[in-house]
Amino acid sequence: MKLAARVKQVTPSLTLAIDAKAKAMKRDGIDVCSFSAGEPDFDTPDHIKLAAVDALMAGKTRYGPAAGEPKLREAIAHKLQTDNQLCYSAENIIVTNGGKHSLYNLMMALIEAGDEVIIPAPFWVSYPEMVKLAEGTPVIVQTTAESGYKITPDQLRQAITPKTRLFILNSPSNPTGMVYTPEEVRAIAEVIVEHDILVVSDEIYEKLLYDGAQHLSIGAVSSEVFDRTIISSGFAKAYSMTGWRVGYLAAPLELLKAVSIIQGHSTSNVCTFAQYGAIAALEGSQDCVEQMRLAFADRRQVILNLVNAIPGLTCLTPNGAFYIFINISKLGMSSLEFCDGLLNEQQVALIPGIAFGADDHIRLSYATDMTTIERGVDRLAAYVKSRF
Ligand SMILES: *Cc1c(COP(=O)(O)O)cnc(C)c1O
Repeated sequence: MKLAARVKQVTPSLTLAIDAKAKAMKRDGIDVCSFSAGEPDFDTPDHIKLAAVDALMAGKTRYGPAAGEPKLREAIAHKLQTDNQLCYSAENIIVTNGGKHSLYNLMMALIEAGDEVIIPAPFWVSYPEMVKLAEGTPVIVQTTAESGYKITPDQLRQAITPKTRLFILNSPSNPTGMVYTPEEVRAIAEVIVEHDILVVSDEIYEKLLYDGAQHLSIGAVSSEVFDRTIISSGFAKAYSMTGWRVGYLAAPLELLKAVSIIQGHSTSNVCTFAQYGAIAALEGSQDCVEQMRLAFADRRQVILNLVNAIPGLTCLTPNGAFYIFINISKLGMSSLEFCDGLLNEQQVALIPGIAFGADDHIRLSYATDMTTIERGVDRLAAYVKSRF
């Protein structure tokens, strides 16, 4: 069959593929320790589930406005105002089928052939592929461990050309777990304004911070940068709602309207009663977010201690999200070779760095229980020892 050219340029999601292989092995009764998940292992808090059940029973089962339930758009605008000092009104918000969908819609509304989108590597797997689906050109900028895998203002400046439309900022980062400091965000904001480009800030992990790290939303730096900012976020990571598929985009009105048109002709509204769960997430107590954060903080400490004790592996201390990013260059293997061998020989699943544009690294997600962390890292140590 002749398929559209755009499909051929796109790489299938490696993270989803490895996670699927590990799950299939588990179904076959194999004792797999999995660090591959890109999602919290907690159940959604009860008050959120109950709000959705109530909405379902109250008949919130029909089509709603494509841009989202007005009450949810208002609650999101209020959240962005109080948590992030961003002055959006409800009409600047669109509710999407997850943060992934909000970014995809943004690319569709903004990017066309010839447009360049600057993406620092290591990057979240879907960024370059979404840009390609929109027929734009991803411009990958390699960062280093020395800068904490964060792009420097100079690197950004050098990557900008007359064709640059958009810069993708993701802090806290998936896959590195690193967080841009407020000073670093301000310095990036300066470059955005100086060169008059747009920035999309993917803030899906903003609530998962450790060691006193602070999240500054780039749009809050100045009104000049606010006018050039798009915020993408969602409920999946902070509230353990990955399967609910609720995210959002906040943007200048003209762009928001364009995204609404695209959504109106593709997915229409997000599942109506799921949106009522999201309203409860924002309006209810935030204690559940803090409880999950504290659990992640404990696991992070344990996994870092264990991994740093393995000769041959090096790893920076991340202060956000739920990932650690390990340098495997001393082993002289590609990341795919490393992960394949590890899954086959020790039944440990993790994600090869090549998926994120960093072939000398691997990503471990510690969104799993302590027992798995301890047993899995033991096996990782045995594997590394056998190769080193
Ligand atoms: C998980 C994730 C998202 C969005 O996830 P959804 O489930 O679609 O809300 C967006 N960006 C990054 C970096 C992520 O890790």
